[in-house]
Amino acid sequence: MTARYEPVIGLEVHAQLMTRTKIFCGCENRFGAPPNTLVCPVCLGMPGVLPVLNERAVELAIRAGNALGCDIRARSIFARKNYFYPDLPKGYQISQFDRPICEGGHVPLGDGRSIELTRIHLEEDAGKSFHPEGGGEQSLVDLNRCGVPLIEIVSEPAIFSAEDAYSYLVNLKRILEYTEVCDGNMEQGSLRCDANVSLRPVGKKTLGTKTELKNLNSFRATRLGIEAEIARQEKVLAGGGTIRQETLQWDAERGVPVAMRSKEEAHDYRYFPEPDLPPLLLSQQKLQAVRDSMPELPAAKRERFQTEYGLREYDAGVLTDSAQFARFFETVVKHFPHADRVANFLMGPYLRLQKEQEGDDLLPVTPEALAELLALEKGGTVSPAAGRQVFEAMVRTGKGPADLVKELGLEQISDDGALQTVVDEVLAANPEQVAEFLGGKEKVLGFLMGQVMKATRGKGNPKVLTPMLRSSIEAKRG
Ligand SMILES: [Zn+2]
Repeated sequence: MTARYEPVIGLEVHAQLMTRTKIFCGCENRFGAPPNTLVCPVCLGMPGVLPVLNERAVELAIRAGNALGCDIRARSIFARKNYFYPDLPKGYQISQFDRPICEGGHVPLGDGRSIELTRIHLEEDAGKSFHPEGGGEQSLVDLNRCGVPLIEIVSEPAIFSAEDAYSYLVNLKRILEYTEVCDGNMEQGSLRCDANVSLRPVGKKTLGTKTELKNLNSFRATRLGIEAEIARQEKVLAGGGTIRQETLQWDAERGVPVAMRSKEEAHDYRYFPEPDLPPLLLSQQKLQAVRDSMPELPAAKRERFQTEYGLREYDAGVLTDSAQFARFFETVVKHFPHADRVANFLMGPYLRLQKEQEGDDLLPVTPEALAELLALEKGGTVSPAAGRQVFEAMVRTGKGPADLVKELGLEQISDDGALQTVVDEVLAANPEQVAEFLGGKEKVLGFLMGQVMKATRGKGNPKVLTPMLRSSIEAKRG
């Protein structure tokens, strides 16, 4: 008989704060600069320098705490987390230990459930080591990331499936992006996730021995990595073995969790209070000022899109899926004030094309250009069908809609004479369908309309064509 196990997962998410400068010095906080060019004596850990706390980093941490329903501590303490690693020249990281800036709170999963948070604390990032290909034993270090402001968001061990862990991360990322706390770019490492995973027999309350799984640097890696680690532990336990507490690294290429070298998992940090920074004191006025400056959160925006623009709940959900997409929608509407048409276009042709391009990024079309296209359509210059062709060309070429309509010869044909000729040709070529329609089969009209649109390459004006087609068939009734 095999015991049945329940996985218990806790997530630790590091989010880089969107400040202009680093957390304790004036160096720029920016990704992609040449190695070791965004550094100074403070973030390099030279002797005799003193850290100065970046006020903006504190505000963004409070903002995250507000958005996630945390208690914000009026007094929190910075601490030194001591360890040796080549990417950490100071030999310690300034973090917060037993007095973090935020406690409690929760991340909604989007289906009515939510996951409790333990805490959010402020800390500085370390540098980055590289092991260049073909470099043998050589390692290089880039210290640009040293001192980049982070918040670490720690969940309770209260997630019970890889699926929920995935959903937690998706919803957390959305909130951090919406509040402009973090840009959420997992590829560039501005959002990073580690998971603590343990198993326990179903029905038991105490936690089993956990492993820490690192390097989950995409949504996909988070789900697959946790699934694989659960399966690995199940196999060990089912075979009568015991789980060893260890740190594992997710190898996305091979799809397996790999044990890290013991040197890399030495966890004796010996925290002590940071003597160079006073306690962080937050006044009621300060907390109120941050509350007053909070951007709109996803749930509020979804609600507003329904009331302000009259959108259906589902559409409002899709359009507010990311802060960028919601902003794009609202900018189009500002220039073309017909929200229902804009929503239809984004939910239809826009998302279809985005899916074909296999990305989540917005398509390379400005909201102003899309508004112009929809105005051309509404004014009768192009039919909706031709408008979709123009849109595809806009994405492909970056040209404006008016130019493309001319270039592709897609001006809508509303001229009675020209359209009547096409209708007559289509009816002559499809006598069976005409007879069926006259025999009462209304559905055939759609087919015939499709033939007419095809003959006009999508340029026929449906408002002119629909009544014209109907009356032309009726005229054939003996
Ligand atoms: Zn610096």
